Amino acid sequence: MNAVAYLDWNATAPLRASAREAMSLALDVTGNPSSVHRFGRDARRLVETARDQVEALFGGESVVVFTSGATEANHLALRGIPRPLVHMAVEHASVIGARDDAVICPVDGDGCIDLAALERVLLGIGAPALVSVMAANNETGVIQPIAAVARLVHAHGGILHCDAVQMAGRLPFDRAALGVDLVSVSSHKLGGPQGVGALVMGPEIALHPLARGGGQERGLRPGTENVAGIAGFGAASAAVTRDFAAGPAIAALRDHLETMARAAVSRSVVVAAAAERLPNTTAIAIPGAEAATVVMALDLAGVAVSAGSACSSGKIQPSHVLVAMGLPESIIRGTVRVSLGPTTTAADIDLFLEAWSRIAARLGNGTKAAA
Ligand code: PMP
Repeated sequence: MNAVAYLDWNATAPLRASAREAMSLALDVTGNPSSVHRFGRDARRLVETARDQVEALFGGESVVVFTSGATEANHLALRGIPRPLVHMAVEHASVIGARDDAVICPVDGDGCIDLAALERVLLGIGAPALVSVMAANNETGVIQPIAAVARLVHAHGGILHCDAVQMAGRLPFDRAALGVDLVSVSSHKLGGPQGVGALVMGPEIALHPLARGGGQERGLRPGTENVAGIAGFGAASAAVTRDFAAGPAIAALRDHLETMARAAVSRSVVVAAAAERLPNTTAIAIPGAEAATVVMALDLAGVAVSAGSACSSGKIQPSHVLVAMGLPESIIRGTVRVSLGPTTTAADIDLFLEAWSRIAARLGNGTKAAA
């Protein structure tokens, strides 16, 4: 069998055995968690156990509202609080798409928030705002100074929402200690199932639901809970903290990949190489190459990665993240995202590097051998 390497963990992580087991057990529980009889109580117990597990991932002292994923959690937070909204230019599309009246806060060349610009925006708004700043970027892995953002936002009477989808389970994230009011999280980035997530928030936060007509999840997310999905999410949240210890080993593999990819293809550029980044993520470009072509060629070699720029209806859409960072067009067009996880091996990285050198040589993009 030909070797394959899954290096797209930021898109979705493989399902953990503990999550699969929790889901399988939950599928055999018949009750509706809102029913008062014993069957209902059994289902309720699964949901509440998972709630505690997700709450613990964020340091406790939080209300956890289960949703269909982080996209919905982002919308619940941003549309559920009727305040002027500020978010960074590099937020996930589900934050950018939540409201069309947001004020956009710029970032620097590494994609880090400009705190002075944020302060100017907050002063300009002149009313208590809702601010959304992601913990770590899904395309580049760049980490934001969330505690400093929280201090600034609160000094101006604001509420801070944080999309922690890529941070959760990779590095510790204590919601209350960091001063974050609301956090969005997605199960499938932690090794839980797809289609479930949560909004994790301080007990004092008041929200309007996106939908009405049921009392579930404190009335904030009406509809019968996805019991099996929630149980899998809870199990993954409980297991993921063990991965914190694997962070340095994952970072070492990522750093090796970057060093060797640059050594093999002299023109390769690592995006935001000097910034504080997640241990598992690299955004790396062959300037002048088309990322979609590189992704397809890597796929043919058995290596799964993502393009920074998306191709829709035959037209390449440049990544808004890389555009907001002010990168040259040749890098924006040529960037691929490689994301690792706790089960990534040195052999996976070698497979990537072999394919990377071959592809660059074929594209004629300045490999050391060709130079
Ligand atoms: N925010 C970020 C930073 C993400 O990476 C993603 C997933 N690509 C989402 C939100 C959306 O999560 P979900 O797939 O659970 O809707």
